[in-house]
Amino acid sequence: MKRNRRMKLVATLGPASQPPDMMERLFIAGVDVFRINMSHSSHELATELCNSVRAVGKKHRHAIGVLADLQGPKFRLGEFHSGRVFVNDSAIFHFDRDESLGNAERVFLPHPQIFESVKPGHLLLLDDGKIRMRVIETKKDRISAQVLTGGALASRKGISMPETILPVGPLTDKDRLDLDCALRIKADWIALSFVQRHEDVEEVKKIVDGRAAIMVKIEKPSAIDDLEKIIAAGDGFMVARGDLGVELPVERVPSLQKQIVRQARAAGKPVVVATQMLESMISSPVPTRAEVSDVATAVFDGADAVMLSAESAVGQYPVEAIEVMNRIAIEVENDASYDAMVHAVDLAPLPTGADAIAAASHAIADTLELGAIVCYTATGSTALRVARERPGVTVIGLTPIEETAQRLSMVWGIQTVLTGDPKDLADMVRKACRISFDEGFVKAGQGMVITAGVPLGSPGATNMIRIAYLNEDGLPDGHTSEGPIRRAPGRRAQG
Ligand code: PGA
Ligand code: MN
Repeated sequence: MKRNRRMKLVATLGPASQPPDMMERLFIAGVDVFRINMSHSSHELATELCNSVRAVGKKHRHAIGVLADLQGPKFRLGEFHSGRVFVNDSAIFHFDRDESLGNAERVFLPHPQIFESVKPGHLLLLDDGKIRMRVIETKKDRISAQVLTGGALASRKGISMPETILPVGPLTDKDRLDLDCALRIKADWIALSFVQRHEDVEEVKKIVDGRAAIMVKIEKPSAIDDLEKIIAAGDGFMVARGDLGVELPVERVPSLQKQIVRQARAAGKPVVVATQMLESMISSPVPTRAEVSDVATAVFDGADAVMLSAESAVGQYPVEAIEVMNRIAIEVENDASYDAMVHAVDLAPLPTGADAIAAASHAIADTLELGAIVCYTATGSTALRVARERPGVTVIGLTPIEETAQRLSMVWGIQTVLTGDPKDLADMVRKACRISFDEGFVKAGQGMVITAGVPLGSPGATNMIRIAYLNEDGLPDGHTSEGPIRRAPGRRAQG
């Protein structure tokens, strides 16, 4: 299914979206990648969801991505007698190792690592930052804190420590089991939550060993401090604005969003803007104007994708929410100022063959006003470098490898089609022309740039650019590199 936009749409699966017919409706409405939240999915459910996505993909002959999102080291309080307590402003509250039910003065904290690393002066945020405390004293098995902002506090609420570096790796015991499941069901992307440092990413990368791509969720202040190396280590990134806005003052989130998007784009790796994008659509069929503007900002910034969370997982209007995102992306991408805005990021090519070819194919497509850039790609790496250029034409990724196509579903502007390796150069041109025409990417009379690696069919670097034209019947023109010269003036405009 051809999409009429560059930015991709990710939707989180949940009760509102997991019936297979609903999933298909969401795909038709525009979903490119489905997110399975491993915090809320049993392995049976995750397997079933992944199978349903694959079935929709097969039915529509479309590479749909599956993103399995691991919960990561998320910390929770123990339980209170009577379920909840009220903590008063400026009271002293204790966290300890005593498993008995808590009260307004103390609660059990079932995470020994926290006691080792929290220091006096550190900030404690409970229940998504609604309650704030400052640590005044730490003992081997007790943390005492003064309440800065009090309120009602219920059992099992989350606790975060934005100023504390915790001696925990990126994977909890639950995450390890969930990761096994994600790899078994062949998720295309694995998302890591609460990553603190680039070593976390490298550690998981070793385990995953190329079986899936790794998306690092940026939601910790320590990850921001190590952003450059994290971007070098990961395959993709999520601006996880929910937890980022808990761990840091909310007013810092917009600039961090821009910074993360810019740095990920410069690296040529996909970046997803996530959380509360159309929050009001959980219970309303229309978004607020502020939400529309927020999605539009991500489009203007050239983000690879935007994501729905609760809107599609538990909301009443999942299809409408995707339709809204789809319409905003199309509208913004066709705005006269879009091109200048999206190219405001410095994207000088690196001195590599792939970047030289990506920059050249972009320039050729612009100069000749061609209809598409077609990339024969095995691993997807050339298509990624072309997408990094954010060219004004469709980027078509042709690959014989299903996993490559599915991974690229996360990436700005790439539309993939599965096809076998071409037999020779003539076949390469023929295939590119036929697929581009049949799939509706390029019209009769239009031209395209084709990139490939020669010798064909053997893995190796892309090293060739070819220009090809479709004749008026949508067949490859005999004069593949001289099309426009032989054409009557004005013909191109018809295409
Ligand atoms: P989550 O991640 O939905 O898994 O918490 C996204 C975020 O924190 O914004
Ligand atoms: Mn999060």
